[in-house]
Amino acid sequence: MNVIYPLAVPKGRRLCCEVCEAPAKRVCTACTVTYYCGPVHQRADWGSIHEKICQLLIPLRTAMPFYNSEEERQHGLQQLQQRQKHLIEFCYTVAQKYLFEGKHEDAVPAALHSLRFRMNVHGLNSVELVPAYLLLAEASLGLGRIVQAEEYLSQAQWTVLKSTDCSNATYSLLHRNLGLLYMAKENFEEARYHLANDVSEIWHKYLNDHYQVLSQARVQQIDLLGKQFVNDTGLDEAQEAEAIRILTSILSIREPTSDKAPRKTVLVLKTLAMLYYLMMDSLKAHEYAARALSLAQEHLSVEEQNVIQELLTLITTEEEQPITS
Ligand SMILES: [Zn+2]
Ligand SMILES: [Zn+2]
Repeated sequence: MNVIYPLAVPKGRRLCCEVCEAPAKRVCTACTVTYYCGPVHQRADWGSIHEKICQLLIPLRTAMPFYNSEEERQHGLQQLQQRQKHLIEFCYTVAQKYLFEGKHEDAVPAALHSLRFRMNVHGLNSVELVPAYLLLAEASLGLGRIVQAEEYLSQAQWTVLKSTDCSNATYSLLHRNLGLLYMAKENFEEARYHLANDVSEIWHKYLNDHYQVLSQARVQQIDLLGKQFVNDTGLDEAQEAEAIRILTSILSIREPTSDKAPRKTVLVLKTLAMLYYLMMDSLKAHEYAARALSLAQEHLSVEEQNVIQELLTLITTEEEQPITS
């Protein structure tokens, strides 16, 4: 970790601190392609992410070798893209892990790297940047840096607004972070809106589409083959956990006021029932569907009750007929 002055590096390269982008005064001696404003940021970056990616950065940051043919050049470019994509995911996962562990400070450099590689690969306006903005916002919130969190979130919101292909998981994360931001600002009205309204409807729509297709298939398969089903929510494990976390916290906001807005509570209960049904947890699916039904019978139309009755019947049918392979 010696200090090497910028004169030692090729002309024309922009020498900025990896963490804050201030003019660089030292370089990582292990890779010699990463610069810092001083020891504080070098140490912070090393502890967060640089130790893990130091050597991986060398091929990304050294000049492109000379290629003999256009084909070779294309191949070289493709390889570069692959490497950057790998780093996007890797840095994202590392940052996310720090956040789960409550290490907000450590999460920042890793999340910043994920953001920068995303910018390189996808451009400055891509919806692919949003997950990294959200990580940075969450880390900033954890550090009590409200203004910074707000900046990242408005970047994320703006990018989402302009895009047409934003996933439900990303919408959901955006609203959760906006919810947390307003909580921090003690604007509980706005917080409630972001934590509840949009999110549960987004999840409902997503799971309902999935459920419509799958429940048909599952009913037919019970009749014909008695074939084993596997978990099929179309989500990965982390997204499922996120969905459960969000929906149950929305439920805890909604339930005390379900007399005033029963339809909304029923929607959340039904969404949770569908989620657990798709996750093959029929016990929990049954529980939430039954709660949805009894609330619907109290407050909603017969037609609305029937939809939930159907769901409950389906869950019960599968329970009674344990499927064997
Ligand atoms: Zn710096
Ligand atoms: Zn290095």
